[in-house]
Amino acid sequence: KAKALGDGSFQFFEPEMCLEARRRLQLEAALHRALEQRQFSVHYQPRVDLRSLRTLGVEALLRWQHPEFGRVPPLEFIPLAEERGQIGTIGCWVLEAACRDVQHVNDRFGLALHVSVNISARQLRSPDLIGQVRTALAESGLPAEALELELTESALIEDLGQSVQVMQGLKALGVRLSIDDFGTGYSSLSYLKRLPIDVLKLDRSFVAENPAGDGFVRALIDMAHVLNLSVVAEGIETTVAMEALRDAACDEGQGYLFARPMPMAELEAFLAQEADTASASTISG
Ligand code: C2E
Ligand code: MG
Ligand code: MG
Ligand code: MG
Repeated sequence: KAKALGDGSFQFFEPEMCLEARRRLQLEAALHRALEQRQFSVHYQPRVDLRSLRTLGVEALLRWQHPEFGRVPPLEFIPLAEERGQIGTIGCWVLEAACRDVQHVNDRFGLALHVSVNISARQLRSPDLIGQVRTALAESGLPAEALELELTESALIEDLGQSVQVMQGLKALGVRLSIDDFGTGYSSLSYLKRLPIDVLKLDRSFVAENPAGDGFVRALIDMAHVLNLSVVAEGIETTVAMEALRDAACDEGQGYLFARPMPMAELEAFLAQEADTASASTISG
């Protein structure tokens, strides 16, 4: 059995090939054309100050809408793009879009929001990353300190020596660095001290398992503060979790309780509403 792909090539499927492997092959082929066919977009999820509940920044999250497969989750296609060597091109596109979009909302609303962009292991190992970041900043006009790059522990640990070198190059540009999904990987507290990072993002699983907070999470937050890191909790879905984290001195939060990831137009509406609420409360004293 052969299936004609749009570009005149054929792909062969063994009849016994399981559905999952078949979908993978189809997604791989589709991924090649996703950028040029404008199937990607970037959504933005607000990150709020846990005391004032004001939005301080947003995380850029890539979305892929395919005409046939529908919305493909990032956890499915990012690893594919990574394996197939496409994450460099895609990641560069996200970086440029995110800097441009956030500079635009900052101009429009007179804000100084920062934007966080996820960087995969392969991007971190690529010699192009530093140049791509420099270009994205220059072309958008976004100040370097408004850009944060999220790295995962597993990506760093693949080659810690090289990671540190790239991180130092990025820091020299003036951007901020964070550790994403902290606590899910091979967390070693000793390397945290040696890495040039600014922010620790506590993985959603801590928040989900312990919405009322516990000594462990509090100790992690205290330790991060000793290392001069600011702490963001991911995946806050309830007021109970939000209050517990705030009481544990967690600096910022992100999660469905505050806002879901949303397209640019919705983000603008969200920020406009936030500005209205703020001025209304100022007027009413
Ligand atoms: P992440 O960087 O840890 O992003 C946070 C994920 O948690 C997002 O999933 C977000 O939608 C989800 N989330 C936020 N708040 C809540 C909540 O309250 N409850 C729950 N259940 N989930 C929440 P998403 O957008 O599906 O992205 C999944 C992962 O894909 C990201 O995890 C990141 O590792 C990766 N990813 C997304 N965009 C990019 C990208 O542009 N480049 C790279 N390299 N990876 C990306
Ligand atoms: Mg992230
Ligand atoms: Mg995360
Ligand atoms: Mg996560």
